[in-house]
Amino acid sequence: MKQLVLASNNAKKLKELDALLAPLGFAIIPQGQLGIPEAEEPFGTFIENALAKARHAAQHSGLPALADDSGLCVRALGGAPGVLSARYAGEPKSDARNNARLLADLAGQTDRRAHFVSLLVLVRGADDPQPIIAEGEWHGEILATPRGAEGFGYDPLFYVPACCQTAAELDAATKNRLSHRGQAMQQLIARLPAL
Ligand code: IMP
Repeated sequence: MKQLVLASNNAKKLKELDALLAPLGFAIIPQGQLGIPEAEEPFGTFIENALAKARHAAQHSGLPALADDSGLCVRALGGAPGVLSARYAGEPKSDARNNARLLADLAGQTDRRAHFVSLLVLVRGADDPQPIIAEGEWHGEILATPRGAEGFGYDPLFYVPACCQTAAELDAATKNRLSHRGQAMQQLIARLPAL
């Protein structure tokens, strides 16, 4: 098994990425398991934050590292919460409070279009001059009330018209096939022989 450090401690993200990479012979180690602290995410774009997180994990571990910087962009909110998705309702991070804030911000709004973005960056080492970069988008609409118990984050509010279900009502395999992260992973996997 080739070892890859995941620059995240999000157990649900780990599970989604592990399901895609384990069959290819990659053992994913969450950075917290190696005592690596969370990196700062001070930037205004997903790519900058993902690169910073991947380099940070590679530097501390001496191993290749994979980072996902992702978020929800809502059309009527000018793209918010965007890179601030994890902490939209402030510290400490809370999916329940983030969802409540999103509903409050969209109260009375008829344009409910939104999309998830996932920026994946894989570095072979901290100073890798040519990181492998992949990007996925998943389009849907924000409901007025949450539905479903799977997934994480904004999944219960994210309605996927093609499935007539929210992301939190989809089984894990279907979400992985359709989602922003799943799409980005397929691109990344296609480029893995370069690792
Ligand atoms: P990150 O750890 O900075 O990438 O935070 C991403 C945040 O975006 C998460 O905490 C969620 O709030 C949201 N997010 C990203 N991907 C998903 C997803 O697949 N479903 C629901 N929410 C997501």
